Amino acid sequence: MGKTLCKLVDDDYLDEHFKGYSELVKSPNYICKKCGRASNDEKKLCKPKKIKE
Ligand SMILES: [Zn+2]
Repeated sequence: MGKTLCKLVDDDYLDEHFKGYSELVKSPNYICKKCGRASNDEKKLCKPKKIKE
């Protein structure tokens, strides 16, 4: 997986890989400022913003 979550969702990744997707978002530390998606890996977001100090 080299793509961001933002892009993966657009490509129907969530429908086909629900379990893997869940692992990326179950304890999010970052929110994408552009798309509003959340992830525990900033590399998976196109405009990551940390939400926990
Ligand atoms: Zn994004």
